[in-house]
Amino acid sequence: MLDIRYIREHPEIVQQVAKQKGIDVSIDDLLSHDVERRRILQELEQYRMQRNQLSQMMPQLAKQGKKEEMEQTKEQVRQINASIAALESSLHDVEGKLRDLMLRVPNIISPDTPIGESDADNVEVRRVGDVPVFDFEPLDHVALGEKFDLFDIARGVKVAGTRNYYLKGVGAYLHRAVQSLAIDLLTDRGFTVMDVPVMLREEMFTNTGFFPLGLDQTYALEDQKYLVGTSEVPLVSYYSNEVVDVEQPVKFAGVSNCFRSEAGSAGRDVRGLYRVHQFAKVEQVVICKNDPEVSEQILQTITKNAEDLLQLLELPYRVVSVCTGDIGQGVYKKYDIETWMPSRESYGETQSASNLHEFQARRSNIRYRDENGQLQFCHTLNNTAVATPRILIPLLENHQRKDGSIYIPKALRKYMNGVEEIKPN
Ligand code: AMP
Repeated sequence: MLDIRYIREHPEIVQQVAKQKGIDVSIDDLLSHDVERRRILQELEQYRMQRNQLSQMMPQLAKQGKKEEMEQTKEQVRQINASIAALESSLHDVEGKLRDLMLRVPNIISPDTPIGESDADNVEVRRVGDVPVFDFEPLDHVALGEKFDLFDIARGVKVAGTRNYYLKGVGAYLHRAVQSLAIDLLTDRGFTVMDVPVMLREEMFTNTGFFPLGLDQTYALEDQKYLVGTSEVPLVSYYSNEVVDVEQPVKFAGVSNCFRSEAGSAGRDVRGLYRVHQFAKVEQVVICKNDPEVSEQILQTITKNAEDLLQLLELPYRVVSVCTGDIGQGVYKKYDIETWMPSRESYGETQSASNLHEFQARRSNIRYRDENGQLQFCHTLNNTAVATPRILIPLLENHQRKDGSIYIPKALRKYMNGVEEIKPN
């Protein structure tokens, strides 16, 4: 959520960002509701003052036995009460409309965010590692999975519908190993590991900016609860409506399953494990002071954490600066990390690092006291450390060898229950 004062002072900027982010919201409408709200509040104030004055006169009139004037005054108070009730109802209406529009207003973007319509317009920042050149016909992860019995997509679909899968044996070990590696790396770097609730109240999704615009991506349960698509929602919400000590940034590493309906992705990435309805993620969430230099530095650090993980997995990747059309409503600045996927002959997104400035903290009411004792909204950031099984795609495909085996990076081996490489029987 943006500060309404900022929107009043910079309506053109906010409308332009909405257009660049592809969000349908009229700032003119929003501001006319804002003006109407303030007009009603002023009128209410005047009526309430009048009513007070009249009420104060009544005992005097009664004492003086001025019956007729008493009756007239009572009648005036009745009329004022009726006007107040009508105004309160209009206020309720206009505040509802204003809130609906405020929830759609995007965050502004950093000056270095590229302008563009889709992920095709993201701008490469750096490439790390060499993409493999195979002197044999490499298999894709689906074929490798079948060959080594690492997962079973057909039965996943039989049991749970499209975009579902079972991970089996060494495939399941790998899935857990990458998460354990991420948890250990983040623990070493001062993150608190959090196992989080995944069925949350609706307001947590609204507060973190996933609703209303991402409602169709989310599985609804009973009692106004929904399944999370990322542990960012419970982790940011952890401190909702609290005043937090952020002298040192709060650093959480959330571990959870994530559930996404993938509405709007029909026909995209239907083969294999790239785009599925349920996956696991170790997520970094940081809550800090609302100092743009501090949060920018943290964005670089959490991006590096994810890159370091890819380097431990010995995978080639690139970092892209995400453009306006792909950045999302609440994000001020974002990097995607894309890992080389031989079967796609391209880099595919495996991690996403975002700085949201005050956007989520304002909606979630997460504040801290600054040096002068003033309450301020925090900045929030998040980045995937690892998301699996998507990361298994580059892991299996890049590390396949000519002799038919698959290399397991050294950093992973201690989590692999003794499996040091994946070999044909
Ligand atoms: P996000 O929280 O949308 O930034 O996504 C973070 C990471 O989760 C992505 O970079 C992917 O690695 C992974 N991911 C997101 N959606 C899916 C999905 N439907 N299936 C598998 N992995 C996903």
